[in-house]
Amino acid sequence: MLSTGRRPSFVPVLLAALAGLAGCALPLASVSEIDSQGDAEFQKIRAQTPASTDAVLRAYVSCVADAIIAQLPEPYADQNWEVEVFDSDQINAFALPGGHIGVFTGILKVAENQDQLAAVIGHEIAHVTQEHALKRYNREATTRIGVVGVAVATGTGQAGADLLGMATSLGLSLPFSRSEEGEADVVGLRYMAAAGFDPRQSVALWQNMQKKDKLRPAEFFSTHPSSEHRIDDLIARFPEALATYNAAHAAGRNPQCQR
Ligand SMILES: [Zn+2]
Repeated sequence: MLSTGRRPSFVPVLLAALAGLAGCALPLASVSEIDSQGDAEFQKIRAQTPASTDAVLRAYVSCVADAIIAQLPEPYADQNWEVEVFDSDQINAFALPGGHIGVFTGILKVAENQDQLAAVIGHEIAHVTQEHALKRYNREATTRIGVVGVAVATGTGQAGADLLGMATSLGLSLPFSRSEEGEADVVGLRYMAAAGFDPRQSVALWQNMQKKDKLRPAEFFSTHPSSEHRIDDLIARFPEALATYNAAHAAGRNPQCQR
């Protein structure tokens, strides 16, 4: 173990070496690297958070997730997705690259029916199919270059330690951008409608989330910054989404997920 006295000199030297390898930037991640990080991150959350033992609830979440997964573009529809329900009051859910979906029981009190849960899961999966984690990671890697410079110049250890942490973890705590949120809303709406879930319930979901957030901050909004226009933007997409929804029902896609 390193003594604390050595750290300020050790970290900047290592960072200088890292930065030097890539010219002046940290190497950017590839899709397969982000997938592996998603796998590792999911295992970490699994190790830290108990899974729900409520078989009915687990089947309900899987029912909604499976209906949406079946409508994803390739290669996502045929990917082996892992769906887990975590026993936690957190009002949150996530999907990770590599094919992982996590739903905390806390958000099931806000998502009142299968269609609202489909809006949550559709939104999360859309972050994965639009490669937002990869973009977010690479954005962070680029913007932290200034921090590397400062760490190297001043011998400050902490900034360097943060950077090293980021380089080895996808970091669920990093927020998406507002434009990525808007994109996840629109793409997620399409996925839920194609699976036969009522797209109008997406608006009811976000209204419930905002109400809950006033009582107790929903963890969801720390990583998913909400736009003021979110609800208006969704309503503007209803004509297209309802056409997709009606076509799904006509084709026999009419999920009945029970809790
Ligand atoms: Zn989001």
